[in-house]
Amino acid sequence: MMIFKGINRVTQTYGGSHGGIDIVGDTDPTVRSVTDGEVYSVQYWDGKTKTGSQSYGNLVIVTHDGKRFYYAHLKSIAVKKNQQLKPGDTIGIMGSTGNVTGPHVHFEVRTGSTTKTRVDPAPYCGVENKKGVYTEPVPHKYTAKDARRALRIAATLETPTEEDYRLLDLDNDGKITAKDARDILRRAAELEEETNN
Ligand SMILES: [Zn+2]
Repeated sequence: MMIFKGINRVTQTYGGSHGGIDIVGDTDPTVRSVTDGEVYSVQYWDGKTKTGSQSYGNLVIVTHDGKRFYYAHLKSIAVKKNQQLKPGDTIGIMGSTGNVTGPHVHFEVRTGSTTKTRVDPAPYCGVENKKGVYTEPVPHKYTAKDARRALRIAATLETPTEEDYRLLDLDNDGKITAKDARDILRRAAELEEETNN
């Protein structure tokens, strides 16, 4: 599980005086939880202080499995203290609050009996502790048009391509059927509901 959908660009690695890893979401600035867990605390930046805990800017700390996960420098925060999270849930939007020179997420993992020992966070967010670009596939967004195409294929009015099988054969049975078309329509409807929120 990565913090961002699409491109996760590691701009600063963990180690030395840097207790976390800095990641920029180039495709989508939505910051997503990489674990399930509970929101332990939410800190809002005062808009000027760049030292102490305020250096983290707008900060969300999530607890999971005896560890604390820090998502720092957020532009906005979408969760509340004690909120239960699933992997992929939105935590906020990437920003440049606190002690920063540009927008990114500083992601940190703390463990140990006092939850103060910082460890390499890279394995927890699907990247390497190395500058570079890592990509989480952006899921295909289905539309009613995809469902119509699946229906035409199911009715043998159209010959499917390999790409069609990859996108439209949702139950992976090697055939694109009316059932696939119905499932695609349902997914398309869910997406439209999300967009309306
Ligand atoms: Zn950092």
